Amino acid sequence: MTANLLDYDLDGLAAFCETLGEKRFRATQLYRWIHQRGASDFDQMSDLAKALRAKLRGVARIEGLPVISQHDSADGTIKWLFDVGQGNAVEAVFIPEDDRGTLCVSSQAGCAVGCRFCSTGHQGFARNLTTGEIVAQLWFAEHYLRQHLQTQERVISNVVMMGMGEPLQNYAALVPALRTMLDDHGYGLSRRRVTVSTSGVVPMMDRLGQDCPVALAVSLHAPADALRDNLVPINRKYPLAELLDACNRYLAHAPRDFITFEYCMLEGVNDQPEHAALLIDLVRRHGGTGVPCKFNLIPFNPFPQSGLRRSSQAQVQAFAKLLSDAGIVTTVRKTRGDDIDAACGQLAGDVRDRTRVEVRIARQRSVVELPASVGGSA
Ligand code: SAH
Ligand code: SF4
Repeated sequence: MTANLLDYDLDGLAAFCETLGEKRFRATQLYRWIHQRGASDFDQMSDLAKALRAKLRGVARIEGLPVISQHDSADGTIKWLFDVGQGNAVEAVFIPEDDRGTLCVSSQAGCAVGCRFCSTGHQGFARNLTTGEIVAQLWFAEHYLRQHLQTQERVISNVVMMGMGEPLQNYAALVPALRTMLDDHGYGLSRRRVTVSTSGVVPMMDRLGQDCPVALAVSLHAPADALRDNLVPINRKYPLAELLDACNRYLAHAPRDFITFEYCMLEGVNDQPEHAALLIDLVRRHGGTGVPCKFNLIPFNPFPQSGLRRSSQAQVQAFAKLLSDAGIVTTVRKTRGDDIDAACGQLAGDVRDRTRVEVRIARQRSVVELPASVGGSA
């Protein structure tokens, strides 16, 4: 089996090249061909000696993910469904805006956290993606878009790890992928423009702060433990007080001086004035000093099995006003790409055998804590 070079950050590629007797600057050249030029064929790499290209062909490959489908939304959003084998698929979504291009990237096929309002959570967990499978989403999208838009310039300026899966439950694969996004010889993205979104895997938040600090979004969704236990089951393991402590520890390393709290607006569940009052109190008073933060309210994107409803626009606005009036910067996420099921929480990648999925969900529902094997390095 040859090595897929998308699996390596630059240090990893340098180590691989060393096994071939090649110096680090060769690894840098190779890395630039792959990520900056989108090369998948060693023969394109005209500044590498023919003998080296031949050697590489024998031991390595540059292999993206097969694209199952592409959907283009009327608002410019593009969603790709990628095949990750054994009937599993993951999605990536490109969201163009005036001043940036954002790619929403998946980290797992399915998710073990099982949040009630999330269609990925309802699917259950299939497996972690490899570093190469995470990077392949960016590698493909960036080079597809450059070709499509006929530009040599970078198209994707921001990455959000907000696709399918809990990135901090796939930590070992995530970190080298983030490094390739950040590396000047890779995609050269700013740390402030790469965001990891987490449901609150506290120990891994600490490790990320040490190993690879990037912008952090935390999926809060509830102002008190009883409700959060119900909506985001991992709260039973890492309750709010611990989560907010971890947010403050993270901020000591973060490239931004605030945490983004995501809050999915569910009618009658977490969208009442008393929830806002509790939230304000929580983020203001926690630990005495509070947590520097911004709020991003996400109108719930319904899916059939959830049994939940989206808060009305008026309710969302009223909730946003309560937070803003308390001095907390609050935005309401525009729903993009919902004509192609690309909005938050609608990423299902759903090509699998339903019966297996139902069995898996039933099994996971009966287990409150994550099985160790699913927690990965967490
Ligand atoms: N697992 C990570 C990242 C992926 S989910 C996390 O939970 O943070 C990305 C964001 O989409 C999270 O804030 C999540 O709560 C939100 N989300 C999930 N399902 C949703 C839905 N049906 N409607 C709106 N937002 C949803
Ligand atoms: Fe997993 Fe995030 Fe969905 Fe929760 S919201 S089930 S953590 S992907």
